[in-house]
Amino acid sequence: MLKPKFNQKYFVNKHSQLSIQCLACKKTRTFPIEILRERQQAIKVKCSCEHTFTIDIEFRKHYRKKVNFLGRYRLATASVEEVKDCTVADLSLGGLSIKIINDESIAEHDELIVNFRLDDQAHHEIERKIQVRHIDQKDRIGGEFIDLESNDPDGPLLF
Ligand SMILES: [Zn+2]
Repeated sequence: MLKPKFNQKYFVNKHSQLSIQCLACKKTRTFPIEILRERQQAIKVKCSCEHTFTIDIEFRKHYRKKVNFLGRYRLATASVEEVKDCTVADLSLGGLSIKIINDESIAEHDELIVNFRLDDQAHHEIERKIQVRHIDQKDRIGGEFIDLESNDPDGPLLF
C-alpha cells in the first residue's frame, strides 16, 4: 500500500483557486480560496474515498485580487431592509473594498455587513463583516474582516 505523504505544499495562484489532489484515489478538486481564508496554514482534507491527509498552503503575503462582484452592504447595526447595492472591487486575505455611490451615512470604524456571490462554479455566497478602514463617501470603502467564517476552521475540508 502506498504510504500516505503528508504536508504536500500548495501555492495559491493568481486566479485564487486551489487544486488539491487526493494521493490515494487521485481525485482532484478545486476550491475557491475565499472559503479557505480563515483556516490554518495546515489543512486537514478528508476525501470521499476515506483517505485523510494534510496539506500546507502558502499564501502570498500581499495577496490581493481584483474582482467585480455585485453585492450588498449595510451597517451592522442597521436592519436588513436598509441594504444598499455595491460592487466588490477587490478581495485580499484580510479584507475587501467596495465601490459605492454617494453614501454619507458611513464613517471610518463603522462595522458593515457585505454580501456577494463568488464567480466560482458553485457561486458560493459570502457574507462578511468588515470594519471600515478607508472611506471615500463618493465612491469607495475599504475594510478589514472582523468576523470568522461560519464553518469550523479546524474541521477537515471535505471533498
Ligand atoms: Zn481519495
